[in-house]
Order: sequence, then structure tokens, then C-alpha cells
Amino acid sequence: MNFVIPKSRPRDTAPANAPGNFGLRREAQRHAAFARTEISPDPKIPRPPESGVAASLCHRSPKSRPAIAGERAKIAHQLLADCHLCAHHCGVNRLAGETGLCHAGAGARFFLAQPEVTDELELIPTFAVALSGCDLRCDFCITGAESWNPRAGKVFNAEAMAAKAKTALASGAKTVMLLGGEPTIHLPAALEFVSHLPDAAKLVWKTNAHGSAPARELLDGIFDVWLADYKFGNDDCARRLAKVADYTRIVRENLLWANAHSELVVRHLLMPGHLECCWQPVAAWLAENLPGVKINLRSGFWPAWKSARHAELRGTVSADETRRAWQMAKNLGLNLIP
Ligand code: SF4
Repeated sequence: MNFVIPKSRPRDTAPANAPGNFGLRREAQRHAAFARTEISPDPKIPRPPESGVAASLCHRSPKSRPAIAGERAKIAHQLLADCHLCAHHCGVNRLAGETGLCHAGAGARFFLAQPEVTDELELIPTFAVALSGCDLRCDFCITGAESWNPRAGKVFNAEAMAAKAKTALASGAKTVMLLGGEPTIHLPAALEFVSHLPDAAKLVWKTNAHGSAPARELLDGIFDVWLADYKFGNDDCARRLAKVADYTRIVRENLLWANAHSELVVRHLLMPGHLECCWQPVAAWLAENLPGVKINLRSGFWPAWKSARHAELRGTVSADETRRAWQMAKNLGLNLIP
């Protein structure tokens, strides 16, 4: 069966890397995404990888984003009984008190909720909400204590937090950003939060790009911008520094999906001694596979948390490394943003 993408809202034809292009294109994509999940599939229409979740998405008619997020929050909550929200695929029953590699239970907590102005210029000021706990174990994590511990901070009440976000939006915040830790591990709470936010709000999903296919399907059309990390250029560094396996395949799968389904900004934090092994392959892959995508190359590495476990991470990135990193980006034609 064919379907017609709703034409009631204009599709922005500006290139993906156009400055400030976080509005109309997103709007059209979101409606298109909803349409894809509402209508019987046409085999000629590209679809995301099947996980079984799409079949249970419970909307059958055009609804607002808050309404759809509310329905999906219930599905996400059910998925905690056999948790595969991130690519670790622990399969534990979080509803029954079991915990997987992230150690998170069924409820979410948060350790930060405030206006922020340190993110990408196009997104600030943002109202940032950081949920406690993460599925990665990056030894250099700048918020390690809270990010590693899902019991840190305060109980997350989605409706109350949304009220704070709405106040921030009314006071001039451009966006609302959900981060962690890693918000994917708290997908039910994240979706419930969106269900209480205005349909027109610009929402940012700041992620480590280690989510699973079921999580992505529940996120389809919900967040306007994916602000995604691509941290390691090879699986050995990922395993050694963040205790994660099969990193390269998973992060690339998520980035390609995010670029097809939302606005995408990719972040890479330069690490001392990791120019050739990490930034160079990351940059080369981005140039080849996501040409024009916005990239934030961050050079402010600080040897925080458990960085001292690794000799090369006991200092900061040298001026020469920073200069060479930018030269690599320039040579590859990457679309670096402030
Ligand atoms: S969110 Fe990821 S790490 Fe946590 S229990 Fe689920 S699959 Fe495991």
C-alpha cells in the first residue's frame, strides 16, 4: 500500500548542514516518520531495521508528538522486563529488580536540570536535564560519579521536570536537551518527559550512540536533534577506555540512522595520544559516510575521573595535536562547527 506524506507543513529543502536548520526540516521528517509507522509497509519504502517493536507501536492515526511519546513511554516501560534498550542487550528484568551493565533499575533519577550555554551555538541557551547512570564506562568521563551511578541525584518526575522546562522555554531557552549519563537507558522516563512538553518545542537527544534498534524505533520522530558522540576510532580503544565491545559497528549504525531520521550533530572529544588511532579514523569515516554533517571537534579534554588509569590520559591535548586534528578535518572537508 502506498501512502502520502502529509503536506500540511512545508518541507525545508535547505542542505542538512545549513546554519540554524533545526526547524522545518525536522518538522517534515517527524511527520514523515509518523506516517511511516501508521501505514502498512510498502516494500519499496526504506525502513529502519526491524526489532519487533515497530509492530507494537500503538498509534494508528496522526497525533501530536506528546501523545505519541506518551504511548511509547508505556511500551518502553514494558521493555524493561527484558531490557535491550542499549546495545549491551543484557536481557535482564529491570521491573523485577534485576540490573544489567548500567546498574539502572526501573526508575530514573537526575543529577542536573538547569539552563546551559556551553553546548553548540545553534542549540543554546538550552534547558538541560541529565539523567543518572550510563551503559558505557568511560574512564575519562567528566561527570563520572553521577554518570556511572544510576542512584545518584534525585528522583525524576517527568511531569514536574517538564513544567520546569516549559518555564525555561518561556524565558528564552531555544531547546530542551536530555542527556546523562546516557538517556537511552531511561527511555520510558525520557518519553514520558516529552509527553508533557509542548509539541513545538525543539528537543535535543544527547547520546553516546550506543542504543539498540528497539530504542531507536521508539525514538523515531520524537527528538529534533541528535547530538551524538563518536568517541573512539577503533574497537581496542573503546574496549580499553570504556569497557564496550563492538563499538565501531554499533556507533556507526546509530549515526547513520540518526542522520536519516533527525538533524544530527556529531561530537568527538580529542584525547591526548589518540589522534591517529581515534580522531583520524573517525574523521575519515564521517567524511565518507556522512558528508556535510555537522561535527563538533572538542579539544578541552581534562584528565577527570579515572583517567589516571591510562598513562596517555594523565594530561591535556597539546597545541600541536589540536592543530593537526583541525588540519585533518580541513583536508577531509569536514563541516566543523563551533
Ligand atoms: S540499558 Fe543497556 S546496560 Fe542497561 S540493562 Fe538495558 S541493555 Fe543492559
